Order: sequence, then structure tokens, then C-alpha cells
Amino acid sequence: MLTVITQIGGIIYAFVELLPLRRFARYRFLKIVIFTVLYAVSTFYAVPKVAALYGRVPIHDTPNLKAHSVITKLCNRNYVDPSLNTVLKQAAIALHRKHQGIYLVYLDASFPFFNQFPLLPHLSHNDGKKIDISFIYKDQNGNLVNQKPSISGYGVFEAPTGKEHNQIITCKQQGSYWYDFTQYATLGTIYTDLAFAKKATKDLLLELLKRKDVQKIFIEPHLKDRLQLKSSKIRFQGCSAVRHDDHIHLEIQ
Ligand SMILES: [Zn+2]
Repeated sequence: MLTVITQIGGIIYAFVELLPLRRFARYRFLKIVIFTVLYAVSTFYAVPKVAALYGRVPIHDTPNLKAHSVITKLCNRNYVDPSLNTVLKQAAIALHRKHQGIYLVYLDASFPFFNQFPLLPHLSHNDGKKIDISFIYKDQNGNLVNQKPSISGYGVFEAPTGKEHNQIITCKQQGSYWYDFTQYATLGTIYTDLAFAKKATKDLLLELLKRKDVQKIFIEPHLKDRLQLKSSKIRFQGCSAVRHDDHIHLEIQ
């Protein structure tokens, strides 16, 4: 479980299990303390250095670029190829110039080590070249905010209106019953009165599309139409994935 969630946690846990701690009173408590210290030291000091050997870097928060949740960083889910890091930093600066005070907020990226080691539940996030990014929202007064509707950053959909193409129904009719399963992955909703900020999200997407390293972006077809985006880099991910009207998925070459 720890390996699936954090990549390195399982190995550290196994190491602590092998330590001869049973002769100590309260050895279970001692194990938890040792695990926590080792995990923290590894995550914040050792892993970033070793990840460089695998061609990955952690995304560091800047005034314009932030992880949606500290859990992303604690679980080593914020590693990317250096060129993807550059794309994010450049797009974040440009977004901030257009919309003062608004950050580029990212969700799951990749783990620090090994290609083909998927960052579940995202099977394709296995090489440092993919990342999920949040939409931008506005409050009830129409002001842009950095908050997102759900705790995980996933699962609150900007669903098609009655007049828009509804890919979700099409995919479910074709048997992809898991297509909207991310509705169960919110970990709770907190800012339920936020509204999708159409113009700011479009500006964010346009800034990402400007970067030559960006190969493709997945959002749901009705959002591509609603935002009047024409780029051939924006594609439909297919019914075998999950719906993408709760976040942006970005890939570089
Ligand atoms: Zn993704």
C-alpha cells in the first residue's frame, strides 16, 4: 500500500521491520517514530538527489506555481522531467501576469524513480512527462480564486450543458461504466460555491499550448468547444480513461 501511494514508503517500512526492535518496551511506537523520521529525511533530502539520476526533479512551489495539496509532495507524487518543470514554471509566470494573484495549481505528476512505474490511479503517469493541472475558479462575486472545489482536486465535474456534446453519456453507453468514477475521489468537497472560470482557464490552457514541448492536453470535448479552443494538441483521451472535465491532463514529448 505504501509503495503504491508513495513509491518509497514500502521499502522504508520493510527496512524498519527488519530492525531488531522487539527487545525495547513500546517497540511498536518506536517503529512508527523511526519510520516517520526515515521517511521524512528520505523524502525531503535523499529522494530529490537520487531522482536526478533518473532524470526527474521535484516541482518546487514558487509564488506562481503550487501543489494543490501538501500530500502530493509528502507522497513523492510531484516529480517531473526537467523540461516539464520548465513548461510549468513559464506558464505559471505568464498566467500570473495576466491574472494577478492566481497560481498554476498542479495535482498528481509522477514518482521520482523508474519509467513504467505508474502513479495509481493514473496508469500513464509513469515517466515524468505527464501531469494533472487544476482548472481556475471564481467566487460568487466573480473574483478569481486559488481554491478548488474538492480536497483531492479531482471529481467535481464541469459537466456538459444540455446544448453541449455529452461524451460522458456516449462513453457510458459504450460500456465504460468507470468513466465518471472520479466522483468518488474528491476526499470531500470544500468550496462548493465556486464556479468554473471560463476565461482564466482558457488563458491557462493557451499559455500551456504555447510551449513547444507540450505534446497533448486532455480535456472533455464539451470544454474544448465551450472555451473555443482549436488546437490539435487538445484531444479526447478516449472512453477507456476517466472523464476530464474536473482537471487538465498535460503531456510533453
Ligand atoms: Zn493525468
